Amino acid sequence: MIDTSPLSGLRLKLRAEEPLAPRTTWRIGGPARFFVEVEDLPALAGVLRWARAEGLPAIPLGKGSNVLVPDEGLDAVVFVLAGDLLAVRVEPPLVHAGGGASLMSLAVTARNAGLSGTEGLSGIPSSVGGAVRINAGAYGTEIFDVLEEATLVSRAGEARVVPASSIPHGYRWSALVEGDDVVASATLRLRPATREDADARLAEVREKRKKALPTEPNAGSVFKNPPGDHAGRLLEACGLKGLRVGGAEVSRRHANVVVNAGGATAADVRELMARMREAVRDRFGVELAAEVEDLARSVTNRTGARSVESL
Ligand SMILES: Cc1cc2nc3c(=O)[nH]c(=O)nc-3n(C[C@H](O)[C@H](O)[C@H](O)COP(=O)(O)OP(=O)(O)OC[C@H]3O[C@@H](n4cnc5c(N)ncnc54)[C@H](O)[C@@H]3O)c2cc1C
Repeated sequence: MIDTSPLSGLRLKLRAEEPLAPRTTWRIGGPARFFVEVEDLPALAGVLRWARAEGLPAIPLGKGSNVLVPDEGLDAVVFVLAGDLLAVRVEPPLVHAGGGASLMSLAVTARNAGLSGTEGLSGIPSSVGGAVRINAGAYGTEIFDVLEEATLVSRAGEARVVPASSIPHGYRWSALVEGDDVVASATLRLRPATREDADARLAEVREKRKKALPTEPNAGSVFKNPPGDHAGRLLEACGLKGLRVGGAEVSRRHANVVVNAGGATAADVRELMARMREAVRDRFGVELAAEVEDLARSVTNRTGARSVESL
């Protein structure tokens, strides 16, 4: 029997058996045993401590744009950052953003304050926390290029502020991927710009993305680019566009994107990705690494910590 009394008095909303598919861009997956919207730092710390005490894995969910939720759901506490943890505040040239804020709201708030530097990231359908964790990037900007510091909360519920320069990071990776800290907020250092310049850059990014990406539900690139090449080029050369398993299909627009063409399951996506990887291995001898994360592979230890492996 799970005791939820330690959560009383905290700024949060707790629900059981919450469907997760609508909270992912793939629109795939079963329910979370517990789902919590945490609205401030004490609530976040309290939920992490509670999950740990109950021996349940605690899984942060951002905008659900890089995850595959298993069909059977997650026997875990899945939580999103809400309330105060969605706020974006400007203190030129710094911008402080809650981990749950979207990259679009970050870019627009910065633009309104005459600051530039995040326009390239604006079209990534990501939360700030999810983006920092994986060092999300697009059109020549990675979030670590502008990250000053991050507030991290450990599974024991302890918060600390860490300078970005002390967090090892690289292409679609930061050391946070290997740990289990939650990114509660981030501070970015931007540069002054006119609204016209920022608007022009935002519009340019919007146009480029509209052309490049499919309209069906998807999770962006499913594989990372191998060194010196593009996963999309290799997959396209294998003739995989349109390959289908159940409701999952290799996008006809972009060979490194798997779309939910209707009723796709997580099992369909896994099988399709295995075939894509195999085709590239056989033809080019290149081993593709997944960029999307399969939350089924979250493993628990008694403290409720988890590690997520790629597909
Ligand atoms: C249409 C589309 C286009 C995309 N284009 C790009 C692109 O151009 N560049 C790019 O880099 N990515 C791109 N992506 C992938 C995706 O948007 C990024 O990986 C993004 O940073 C994931 O953030 P999220 O908030 O959606 O995280 P989620 O998908 O919700 O979670 C991803 C992982 O991060 C963890 N996590 C989430 N929030 C936190 C937190 N606050 N603290 C710690 N861990 C957390 C989760 O537990 C999970 O392990 C695209 C995706 C889509 C659907």
